[in-house]
Amino acid sequence: MLPANRKKLAAIVVLLLTGLALGLWWWRVPVPGVGIVLPRDTYTPRRQVFRPHRGQIFDRKDSLLASTGPRYLLLLPQRKWLDSARLNRLLGWPDSAFEYRARDLRRRELPAQLALTAAEADTLRRHRRTWPGLTVREYSARNYTVHIAAPVLGYAYNNAQPFLYQAQRLARGRFYRLRNGGLETYYNALLTGHRGAYHPLVDVLNQRHGTWAADTVYQPGQDLHLSLDTELQAYAERIMGERKGYIVALEPATGEILCYVSAPTYDPAVLTASGRGRERGALLLNPDMPLLNRPALQANPPGSVFKLVNAAVALQLGAITPLAAFRCDQSLINCVHEHPSARNLTQALKYSCNPYFYRVLQAVVEQIPDSLAQPVDTCAVRHQNLAAWARQLKSFGLDTLLGVDLPREQPGFVPLPAYYDHRYGRCGWTYRTIYSLSIGQGEINLTGLQTANVLAIVANRGWYVTPHFVRAVGSSGVPLPRFQVKHHTLVDSANFAALIPGMVAALGHGGTAELASLADVGISVAGKTGTVQNDEGDDHATFAGFAPANQPRIVVAVYIENAGFGGLSAAPCAALLMEKYLRGKIAPKRKRWENWLRCGNLAEQGH
Ligand SMILES: [Zn+2]
Repeated sequence: MLPANRKKLAAIVVLLLTGLALGLWWWRVPVPGVGIVLPRDTYTPRRQVFRPHRGQIFDRKDSLLASTGPRYLLLLPQRKWLDSARLNRLLGWPDSAFEYRARDLRRRELPAQLALTAAEADTLRRHRRTWPGLTVREYSARNYTVHIAAPVLGYAYNNAQPFLYQAQRLARGRFYRLRNGGLETYYNALLTGHRGAYHPLVDVLNQRHGTWAADTVYQPGQDLHLSLDTELQAYAERIMGERKGYIVALEPATGEILCYVSAPTYDPAVLTASGRGRERGALLLNPDMPLLNRPALQANPPGSVFKLVNAAVALQLGAITPLAAFRCDQSLINCVHEHPSARNLTQALKYSCNPYFYRVLQAVVEQIPDSLAQPVDTCAVRHQNLAAWARQLKSFGLDTLLGVDLPREQPGFVPLPAYYDHRYGRCGWTYRTIYSLSIGQGEINLTGLQTANVLAIVANRGWYVTPHFVRAVGSSGVPLPRFQVKHHTLVDSANFAALIPGMVAALGHGGTAELASLADVGISVAGKTGTVQNDEGDDHATFAGFAPANQPRIVVAVYIENAGFGGLSAAPCAALLMEKYLRGKIAPKRKRWENWLRCGNLAEQGH
């Protein structure tokens, strides 16, 4: 061959190869095998998408609480005559049922749509040729099998758009406080899963030859297994009725929440179901704010329940011993209870003596370290001691987010010396300025979850697991890793043990929480009542405790607004829950409390 011809051939070969390479690059055609190149048009690119089902939600006993299923809507033609009598016959509805149902709709929603059952939707689809103007739309929606635990279950934001618009319109200013997506929002990513896709290239025989894009991994929606005890939850919601307040019950050893009531409550389906806009509007405008998720989002002065924390910290800081005796001196602070002076901590807790705990916190704040020589700078000492006190409180999970698995939890508040410096000037405040802290009043604020958690710490004598609702994600059988960690407080376990005799005595004869005693059914309860002063009306009643006292299985914290003295309302309420959980039934002598708590005039009883 002539060199010129050879050159021409080489040029053609190079051109062809470049063209092929460019073509392959342009069409993204993979080359299966080695050396075999098939033309592009033999293949068809496909895309197969797998959409995961949203995970289901189960309760403690594995009964279904929420699942996703299909729903059907009939879209009606606009400005078109419809043979409604014939439609009624087809769907098996009574005469004029269609007119009755459509009358209300046509005015508000466009295009007008009617909810159908699965059978009705099926009938219409089979007859679609004779009804060309009608469209049946299928969509998937969350179905709730229960009418309880609304603030826990919550909603996914993409299912709740009508509600969110409505809320912005009706409750503008306070909407931020009312928005609570619950577990559906918190675990949205896990519940949703991740859609996956194959990108196969198939030939005319539908056989796969590689892929034209990277496949993405499909992840099914994970189910959530809650620690919530549905039976206990329903019972607690029933007792609270229309009152305002909260109940939180948890298992101290695991931090699992057994019952979580924010009262008044509502049906969880209302916020996402179609055609219930009127109920949503009423909820948004209700002055009692049923949509407010009280135990996690509302922080209040804890009242006398806080005396437990002050006592444990004072013992730890060496300010008092369990044998400390202080007179019930009402010139310091008034004591609502008539009682003999407390000769030790146990008696002080039994009578909930305000002057005693005034002295306890005073001993903490004015304690002079042995190392300091006289004369002492009392202002510096006060700063140092109050800071030490606040540091101890922080280890209880106060003034910080506990980390419960609900969105938008609030941290509460514990004042530091800097807070008072800012307000009164450095050295402008003394113990006399801040003594309200000794009885859980004043600047200090705790959420309901924090109050329940404090009791769990006492029950465990020094540690807690972050309270949580989901005890198992998917089939793993375990909660998220951070709900498996023990958090230890800075207070030794002996100092918590020293509180328990007084908490048991509070439920004994002459104690402030005598009504909550379950001694008649062989359960010893340990607890503390509280009455939170309220300048705007009747005082708020609280109780926090656990049972059985020696081996706690349940912690209950109750807060009832405007119910007066804690020992007369909140304590019996907690006792009912403990009995229900531990025995599964209520003794006849306490049965009558159920109605009284729900409807009785609690504040009246307190005076
Ligand atoms: Zn007293």
